[in-house]
Amino acid sequence: MSENAASGTIAFLGLGHMGGPMAVNLVKAGHQVVAYDPVPAALEVAREHGIATVDSAPEAVAGASVVLTMLPSGKHVLDAYRGADGAPGLLSVAAPDTLFLDCSTINVDEAREAAAIALEAGHRSVDAPVSGGVMGAEAGTLTFMVGALPEDFETVKPILELMGRRIVHCGDHGAGQAAKVCNNMILGVSMIAVSEAFVLGEKLGLTHQALFDVASNASGQCWALTTNCPVPGPVPTSPANRDYQPGFAGALMAKDLRLAVNALESTGVDGQMGHLASQIYDAFAAEGGAGRDFSGIITDIRDKSAK
Ligand code: NAD
Repeated sequence: MSENAASGTIAFLGLGHMGGPMAVNLVKAGHQVVAYDPVPAALEVAREHGIATVDSAPEAVAGASVVLTMLPSGKHVLDAYRGADGAPGLLSVAAPDTLFLDCSTINVDEAREAAAIALEAGHRSVDAPVSGGVMGAEAGTLTFMVGALPEDFETVKPILELMGRRIVHCGDHGAGQAAKVCNNMILGVSMIAVSEAFVLGEKLGLTHQALFDVASNASGQCWALTTNCPVPGPVPTSPANRDYQPGFAGALMAKDLRLAVNALESTGVDGQMGHLASQIYDAFAAEGGAGRDFSGIITDIRDKSAK
């Protein structure tokens, strides 16, 4: 399989918000894609874009050289690989030496487990979670953080380049998920810090623009401030200017921070800010923020700060 993996059929499993447009970009580039999702409407949309669909995951995998998964969680990925609820495991259905490419965001430990069982079954394994959101998936401008053996990275790179702009080889199995979880922990913590600073500035009589002009050119500078600014005005393209429509939804930030907490706990790191950020975003998601941009956390902080 090795030489022609990148040009053979890709089984694409999971045609949701991200997977749907990613699969479209592969087909647009001339790839043979056979897709499956348990939601009939997702299959219908895929067919409208010229993607071949089948009625089960094993059907998609039979005859594929690459199995790309874009699923909600690590349990979904491991269940699909091993088989669950009477469905056969994809690892047992796939031809020998198939490349299993998981682009979902899952626990680092789950990614390593997925790789171990794939290798054990005689296959190859790559974890390649993404950042860039639905807009990046549609535009083909995602960033892929890749955990793979060097030869497998070379195999998947041309495929990932059809869906993304930056493809970063982070190390061996699990390293892609490790990079993703570390980055998003920085993001969650820094968005809370920026939001607390704006609310504090309000209480101290500082305008949003004044704080932005200083911090964006000083040591407080970060993406949460200069790109996704949580107050309307200073960065006209930030979700704060459209009533916190995502963007990056609070539910996804809460999920990614739970993965960060799992990683902190499994490694024994004293990550107090990561734990706190996870609690704060779990509450935000549970109290109406799940579908809002994660920068909407500032409205919670402001409400809770009202005298
Ligand atoms: P989604 O819920 O929209 O899509 C997941 C799809 O997987 C659904 O359509 C579901 O029916 C399907 N599915 C479930 N089990 C399946 C199975 N066994 N076989 C085939 N399909 C199955 O989720 P999404 O927003 O597309 O996110 C997918 C992954 O990407 C998640 O891990 C998420 O954390 C990550 N991610 C999402 C974003 C984002 O902005 N949405 C950004 C970065 C990363």
